[in-house]
Amino acid sequence: MTMQNVGRPTRPDAETSAQGFTSLAGGRGLLQDEPLIFELGGWSKTGVDLPAASADASDLAGLTREAVALPGLSEPEAVRHYVRLSQKNHAIDLALYPLGSCTMKHNPRLNEKAARLAGFSDIHPLQPVSTVQGALALMDRLAHWLKTLTGMPAVALSPKAGAHGELCGLLCIKAAHEAAGQGHRRTVLVPTSAHGTNPATAAFVGYAVQEIAQTEDGRVDLADLESKLGPDVAAIMVTNPNTCGLFERDIIEIAKLTHAAGAYFYCDGANFNAIVGRVRPGDLGVDAMHINLHKTFSTPHGGGGPGAGPVVLSEALAPFAPAPWVVSGSDGLRLAEEATGPAAQAFGRMSAFHGQMGMFVRAYAYMLSHGADGLRQVAEDAVLNANYVKARLCDVMSPAFPDGPCMHEALFDDAWLEGTGVSTLDFAKAMIDEGFHPMTMYFPLVVHGAMLIEPTETESKAELDRFCEALRALAVAAKGNDKDRFKGAPHLAPLRRLDETLAARKPKLAWKPDPAGGA
Ligand SMILES: *Cc1c(COP(=O)(O)O)cnc(C)c1O
Repeated sequence: MTMQNVGRPTRPDAETSAQGFTSLAGGRGLLQDEPLIFELGGWSKTGVDLPAASADASDLAGLTREAVALPGLSEPEAVRHYVRLSQKNHAIDLALYPLGSCTMKHNPRLNEKAARLAGFSDIHPLQPVSTVQGALALMDRLAHWLKTLTGMPAVALSPKAGAHGELCGLLCIKAAHEAAGQGHRRTVLVPTSAHGTNPATAAFVGYAVQEIAQTEDGRVDLADLESKLGPDVAAIMVTNPNTCGLFERDIIEIAKLTHAAGAYFYCDGANFNAIVGRVRPGDLGVDAMHINLHKTFSTPHGGGGPGAGPVVLSEALAPFAPAPWVVSGSDGLRLAEEATGPAAQAFGRMSAFHGQMGMFVRAYAYMLSHGADGLRQVAEDAVLNANYVKARLCDVMSPAFPDGPCMHEALFDDAWLEGTGVSTLDFAKAMIDEGFHPMTMYFPLVVHGAMLIEPTETESKAELDRFCEALRALAVAAKGNDKDRFKGAPHLAPLRRLDETLAARKPKLAWKPDPAGGA
């Protein structure tokens, strides 16, 4: 078996590495193995000295204090535990993170600096409104630019993720239909390539979901859409650019057909990064669209922080927007918590307060530091980078849609792996041994063994070349019968191939003391 001479078996039972070194103590290359915090063996210590509690049962209706079996670690032990865990995490600050549909781009530190300003980070939603004028002004400016960039008249800032934004948008649509006596519309149309959150959101709101077929070239099948648009359809949910990394060329026609049938057009805006500054969804006939601030506007996401999913709304849906929003009066800015009129807050609110302030600040700092021209270049460079990856790999891997350029993602199928005995999963795991995080796998579902690569605009040509060279070498190895390298991969990660299905289906979410272990 050939293996790269890099990496570090960090388990005592791991295979001997290429250098003939086996770790004796569970660590190597200055990286340590790390058990669960409960397994570190500290039960008799505490990091702080608190006076022993005098159990006073009378105050607590007879409830007495018991030992709660928290791990007992000193401060340095606790700090080391979490630092070791953090070193096992992949992060955009470590290397390229090519997860398609996730827009894992660099998070500029300027955003972090702005978000940590005390006037934004140390305030409370219930403090006097005269003391948070700056924060309200920022929300107002952010709303202004989100509306300007999308060409939409209204925005709800409070949804806390893309999926939460979808929920907000569909609740607005439902409320608008009900207000118009169209509450009988019970179906939402979703293309087969859609992100799983789309049908899930529609079902959550109580709609029946019907799929729209896809054409050979990866776009919405207009004829199929037309045949399904009937008096029962409440909305369509279309992603643009779609999850195959392709622009829906007939998007204006899709909007027209939808409106002619009395339905609303929900656009999943997760892929806005590919068109920001170049295309305004409002001009395309979109009625509602969420914007993942944590994707397009570069706020940390995944393990790195919470998301934010503001929803822009068309004229028709704007009256149904959930509170709050910023209004200006003679005594300054305040949040309007209630609207008046028949459509007011038809479905209540999306969250207790106003949304993710820290994300608002980061997104606004990102917008201002890029400017209108900079944001446009973001989209252009994101698309250029994806096309570069597609062009550099298309002779050794099989692009799912070889004709024409892609948008911000390069999508490959597994046709090129046929007969090699290597699967998409094996190939992705082998990338870990080469020092690269795998791309998105097996999504979208419409492409067999899909590999969806989104490099984003923040990767340099040198980094893209390194990535492409690694993938090319792996592709040659896969076709060259080097099956062992793939089947057991990753060989060099702290943990080997994990049973991901079992982990997803039967996650172990709570630690239980081992009865024999004396814990
Ligand atoms: C990321 C994504 C979502 C969901 O966004 P979250 O912020 O993760 O809830 C929805 N649709 C598409 C196409 C996405 O890529």
